[in-house]
Amino acid sequence: VFRRKQGIDVRTRHEVTELDLEQRRVRVRDLEGAKEWWEAFDLLHIATGAAPFVPAVAGADAAGIYTVSTLQSGIRVRRAMDERKPRRAVVVGGGHVGLEMAEAFLMRELDVALVEMMPQVMNTLDPDMGALVSDEVRREGIELYLDERLEAFEVGDDGHVRALVTNRRTLPADIVVLGLGVRPNSDLVAQAGVPLGIRGAIRVNERMETGIEGVWAAGDCVESFHMVSRQPTYVALGTVANKQGRVAGINIGGGYATFPGVLGTSITKFCSLGVAQTGLRTSEIEALGLEYATAQIEGSTAAHYYPDAAKITVKVLAEKGSGRLLGGQIVAGGASRVDSGSDAYLAAKRIDILATALQAGMRVDEMLNLDLAYAPPFSPVWDPVLIAVRQVIKSL
Ligand SMILES: Cc1cc2nc3c(=O)[nH]c(=O)nc-3n(C[C@H](O)[C@H](O)[C@H](O)COP(=O)(O)OP(=O)(O)OC[C@H]3O[C@@H](n4cnc5c(N)ncnc54)[C@H](O)[C@@H]3O)c2cc1C
Repeated sequence: VFRRKQGIDVRTRHEVTELDLEQRRVRVRDLEGAKEWWEAFDLLHIATGAAPFVPAVAGADAAGIYTVSTLQSGIRVRRAMDERKPRRAVVVGGGHVGLEMAEAFLMRELDVALVEMMPQVMNTLDPDMGALVSDEVRREGIELYLDERLEAFEVGDDGHVRALVTNRRTLPADIVVLGLGVRPNSDLVAQAGVPLGIRGAIRVNERMETGIEGVWAAGDCVESFHMVSRQPTYVALGTVANKQGRVAGINIGGGYATFPGVLGTSITKFCSLGVAQTGLRTSEIEALGLEYATAQIEGSTAAHYYPDAAKITVKVLAEKGSGRLLGGQIVAGGASRVDSGSDAYLAAKRIDILATALQAGMRVDEMLNLDLAYAPPFSPVWDPVLIAVRQVIKSL
């Protein structure tokens, strides 16, 4: 489509191996033909993304251990499922990717174990909210090992993973998926002298310009500005990458656009549970030295008498004194589901109310009268988000 409709000279299976900012050129390797040459540029846009983290433990390069970062890597896992017919999967890491892969293995009727070194899964949530997710992971039949660190893999004579060793036990494994987060692909540009920021991500200004004139960057390889903490942060999310890419493209094309920053808004689905968050969590607020109040409420996603209601837990965090909203977290659906048939995880989409209020810099008292839609199948008269807001106002 890019080639045909947009006239872009797309070169797949070509890798940039070196950057020469003095002579404005990149070294390109044709991965099929094994040819290499220098390609000149006037303007350069870097969108190299991020790579999944693989710890340097014994056996990590054995067959049967996967990361999922590209379509191809997903296809490799599926092929292994079809060809080797594994019976037991171990997932390492309880973040978005780990939980989504654990769910996928459950759907393929494997026995699943999940190992996480923190005391909860989804450790971007506050511990009380993360505990709700951990409960659901166990309820769905996953063996959950929290506070356990991956130390090594045992490898069979055939070179295939046989077991995973943590600091506490050995877990047999026919297939392993690592969901241990990502690192920005910035080595190449760093070697060429492009300045980096937090966690080795490329530093950019609000027009997505790097510190080098005519060199732009966007997506998982760049640092972002957090709109609540007003500090640099690193998020690797498709929604952010797309918006940043649009801004960079407008500027490269001679227009003027800016990217205001991120809130870290994210959502994930684990079985019938929706998990979402935006803004700062408690530990981040404390690190900034802000005085804050929190409220956590349990509500329902529909009027209490309506059959398809799901349980929803909403937590909001606000600054004491100013009343400024600082963040919110939602866990919805799951075992607590009152009845079947509702898309319980869609309840967590209410996070977008909080994200919009955060981006607008609203105080919680201003949110109280938000004109949100109400009809019995969709919400109680007071939306759970507003019930949480009412509660937090009392503690400010
Ligand atoms: C399993 C999974 C699920 C996800 N789910 C969500 C989700 O639900 N919501 C969400 O918002 N985000 C999600 N994400 C994150 C999202 O996919 C990324 O944030 C997004 O793809 C980043 O886009 P990008 O263009 O910056 O990088 P990428 O999409 O990673 O593209 C970078 C490209 O650069 C190429 N490249 C790298 N180095 C070189 C080089 N030297 N030469 C040539 N090419 C190079 C890579 O091969 C790659 O194709 C998910 C990610 C994963 C892995």
